[in-house]
Amino acid sequence: MSVSLRIDIDECIGCGVCMEICPSVFRLDDDEGKAMVISQDYDDKTKDLVKEAIESCPIGCING
Ligand code: SF4
Repeated sequence: MSVSLRIDIDECIGCGVCMEICPSVFRLDDDEGKAMVISQDYDDKTKDLVKEAIESCPIGCING
């Protein structure tokens, strides 16, 4: 399925939690030290991980 995920990079502290939970969707930009979304198209299993990542972000800056 496809959804629109967005990270508020002004708020992101680059902790890497989202990437640890769901590396197929989130990645840390080495230069910026901020998270980015690398896939907007994923299956239901990955969707659950994305939900977990959203809930686990300490800043709450992942919107989806
Ligand atoms: S969990 Fe939140 S604050 Fe941490 S890297 Fe991901 S988007 Fe940024």
